[in-house]
Amino acid sequence: MFLKGKTALVTGSTSGIGLAYAKALAGEGANVMINGFGDTAAIEAERSGIESQYGVKAAYSGADLTKVSEIETMMKQAADTFGTVDILINNAGMQHVAPVDQFPVDKWDLILALNLSAAFHATRLAVPGMRAKKWGRIISTASAHSLVASPNKSAYVAAKHGIAGFTKTVALETATDGITVNCISPGYVWTPLVENQIPDTMKARNMTREQVMNDVLLAAQPTKQFVQPDQVAALAVFLCRDEAASITGANLSMDGGWTAG
Ligand code: NAD
Repeated sequence: MFLKGKTALVTGSTSGIGLAYAKALAGEGANVMINGFGDTAAIEAERSGIESQYGVKAAYSGADLTKVSEIETMMKQAADTFGTVDILINNAGMQHVAPVDQFPVDKWDLILALNLSAAFHATRLAVPGMRAKKWGRIISTASAHSLVASPNKSAYVAAKHGIAGFTKTVALETATDGITVNCISPGYVWTPLVENQIPDTMKARNMTREQVMNDVLLAAQPTKQFVQPDQVAALAVFLCRDEAASITGANLSMDGGWTAG
């Protein structure tokens, strides 16, 4: 319970990797604010389940992180509820798969806003409080696509490369403040985000579902295994430990060997 008394804000945590982060941090005693979209009753069940299972306080913000004003409201709600945000996990993200000359302009704008700019806004609002306490952890979920590209994912790859650069910059700016800033770059993790891109990839590449699973997704991953959300969350928990105080500005791959090739 080394995070008892600390507060973690995890964006995009009503599902997938974000929910795994929230539970893992709560499991170490942190109070958590979860965020994201979904069925109201299901989100409330997750929120109250975190409180009862881990004996922490859990709050929910329904902020749409493509909107700057809603990010500002979320950060204020976290500060008003818990007094502080000690751990910020920039995780909310979306994907759209299309060739660049057919890429819908509104999807480009949304992906850049959610996968990149939202991390900037949440970070700029979290840093002063962390500086004041001389302790903070900022972790962003980047992707193997922060290091390498795949066709038909121009917005996602651009945003994730951006997150890697943003991480390095903020790490340098906060290096003497007790704050570490890192990103985790998973390969394919079995979550709704991956499941939902299968139909578009089938269309874009004229493939069956099985071909997309084996020839596109797991083809990239030498282990031939999907990364598990719990594995990503466990790395984030480690980054919160004092033993990880010298890890800053890093882009930590967890991709089954994908980017080793
Ligand atoms: P997911 O679709 O399961 O979860 C996405 C979360 O973001 C959900 O909680 C959703 O409600 C929330 N969200 C979506 N739009 C939002 C908005 N406008 N405002 C606020 N919240 C919003 O996806 P996931 O796979 O768990 O992805 C989480 C992160 O991990 C993303 O940044 C993604 O790019 C990254 N990632 C995923 C994989 C993978 O294979 N699944 C691999 C590498 C990186």
